[in-house]
Amino acid sequence: MKLIDLHCDTLTGLKRRGQVLRENNMHLDLLRMKAADQLAQCFAVFVHQKHCTENGISPYDFFKTHRDIFYQEMKDNADLIAPAYNSADILKNLENGLMSGVLTIEAGEPLEGKCERVEEFKKDGVRMITLTWNFENEIGFPNRMGGHLKPKGKEIVDTMNQLGVLPDVSHLSDEGFWDVIELSQNKYPVVASHSDARALCDHPRNMTDDMLKALGNTNGMVGVNYSADFLREGERFASMEAVLDHTLHLIDKAGIDHVAFGSDYDGIGSVLEWKDVSGTPDLLEYMHSKISWDDLEKITHKNALRVFA
Ligand SMILES: [Zn+2]
Repeated sequence: MKLIDLHCDTLTGLKRRGQVLRENNMHLDLLRMKAADQLAQCFAVFVHQKHCTENGISPYDFFKTHRDIFYQEMKDNADLIAPAYNSADILKNLENGLMSGVLTIEAGEPLEGKCERVEEFKKDGVRMITLTWNFENEIGFPNRMGGHLKPKGKEIVDTMNQLGVLPDVSHLSDEGFWDVIELSQNKYPVVASHSDARALCDHPRNMTDDMLKALGNTNGMVGVNYSADFLREGERFASMEAVLDHTLHLIDKAGIDHVAFGSDYDGIGSVLEWKDVSGTPDLLEYMHSKISWDDLEKITHKNALRVFA
């Protein structure tokens, strides 16, 4: 079944590990994606603030370097994948027998508090920005700290809404989450690209039931994260059963039209029961024990196609 995955950290792992996107020994590569019938993958440029400081590189330059790696990989693998900027592109690539790569940014540090950078990054092909990672930045605070969006953060989210660059609230503080919901006015979709349900696993990276309902009301979506410790407290092994439990809860609270997948491949240290991206069909087959194929179609790709439209 065609799958659109809202988040992975594979892109920024490549350089560090001396690997390429076509075939590697990480969670995700293009050959295994193809074999698993994947439709599209959001490739995040994961910007680690401390890593940038320690290496004397600005978050902005770090983004630009990895943007270039993304497009070079798309070019090197033009027989398998092409960049996509919206749902129409994803469907056009599919018609041409190609998967799609969507460029995203995890952590708003490359914006350096400048609204005009939203437009610049949109021209670079970025369609979603995770507002914070686990550090305070110009936009706001991570969920391990707490705190509202900063005035500049609110301006940036407004600009993103105006320009159609999706604000991603995974990692953001609860107070910041509610600020983004307010700014959306239930008019602009809000996305939590890789988070699970706090009711099932009390981790600050997960969403409370009220947050899930609020996301649904914006016509946005939440992507199921495969990290074992977000699925079950203190766990290192991610079981298909745990993924299914969380998915059912997210469907119940956010609504069937507001759930997707956000694997977090190559950003998580967990051992996965279905191993890696090649096991996606096994995972979906297992989930079909409790979820109809019609509903699975929604959470694998139809919801994401609606939001990326
Ligand atoms: Zn993350």
